[in-house]
Amino acid sequence: MGASANSLIHRPILASINTQAFQHNLSRVRELAPESKIWSVIKARAYGHCFEAAFQGLASTDGFALLDIQDAVWLREHGWQGRILLLEGLFHENELDLAQKLHCDLVVHCEAQIEWLERLSLKSHTPISVFLKMNTGMNRLGLKPDAYRMGFHRLHSLGYRMHHMTHFANADQIDRQPTVDSQLELFDQTIAGLEGPTSLANSAAILWHRNALGDWVRPGIMLYGASPTGIHADIEHAHLKAVMQLQSEIIDIQELQAGDRIGYGGRYEAREDMRVGIIACGYADGYPRTAKDGTPVWISDASQSGGGVICPIVGRVSMDMLTVDLRHAPNAKIGSVAELWGERVPVDDVAQMSDTIGYELLCAVAPRVPVEIV
Ligand SMILES: *Cc1c(COP(=O)(O)O)cnc(C)c1O
Repeated sequence: MGASANSLIHRPILASINTQAFQHNLSRVRELAPESKIWSVIKARAYGHCFEAAFQGLASTDGFALLDIQDAVWLREHGWQGRILLLEGLFHENELDLAQKLHCDLVVHCEAQIEWLERLSLKSHTPISVFLKMNTGMNRLGLKPDAYRMGFHRLHSLGYRMHHMTHFANADQIDRQPTVDSQLELFDQTIAGLEGPTSLANSAAILWHRNALGDWVRPGIMLYGASPTGIHADIEHAHLKAVMQLQSEIIDIQELQAGDRIGYGGRYEAREDMRVGIIACGYADGYPRTAKDGTPVWISDASQSGGGVICPIVGRVSMDMLTVDLRHAPNAKIGSVAELWGERVPVDDVAQMSDTIGYELLCAVAPRVPVEIV
């Protein structure tokens, strides 16, 4: 995303990012984890919301966690003076100088990264904060317990400021192996007697495992108002707000007769005469092509201010357009606003109808979609 929002010169599609919703969700994290500091996770262009919006909306966070050191450069250039965590540490040894200059906190998850830091310290360094990552059963990144304790002592003895970190595989599910409890137990055993703050919880753990928060929590998806499980009902109790509204407009209306089919492949056949709205949003905007008939789209009703109705998708989503059943929206016309997801249509509801989770849809909003920060 990069183009600036101006409905007069663009296709009528827009990702509107609500910075107050960001603030609200961040304050919900503070209420749920009052003893912890917060790494706001803004990888993947802030889950598709753009860095600038996240930076504005989440300015009161304790730190930002991200992947790419170039994004840390961006944050410093825009005046962020707080902490920045590189969630996967350095990808190459030659990034060390820049990481030091930017005062980044580094995740260290493997032997090679430990060796880079050992070589650096021989030269002398301003103290770097390290989040040493333990593999407690997810088997993605991290050191197994024995290697972990050795790695800890090696870096600790060189003056690095040590923190302990792990990541949960199943904080959004019950009884799936490895469980949060089993991972937590291994983590606690391994760090016994070692000093340093801890960082454990992603959004799912913040929501459902308050015994596993640690000194620094790492919320991502909940800051954006979507669910770690991909099911909206699961987060209703948490009172989060959707931060992104993906909206467009009806650009044409077709009057179908019974038996007519719509779009590529003719997937949907009209059983009766009906009106169909053509909306300027397709898979090249990041809307999922896998969306089934029945996926909800909200259409404004010009006759009531703020009113509108949910209209189901009919027919296959194409590159630049999708089509909705207007039988329940008799007042809909060219120019009527369509919300593809946002406060009225949870992104997770669209995701569920498309066999995925809200995370994937948010991250996939295409660069061609203009962004407006409100
Ligand atoms: C992405 C990420 C998070 C955030 O996860 P959510 O499920 O979005 O809350 C936390 N920790 C690490 C290490 C991550 O990579």
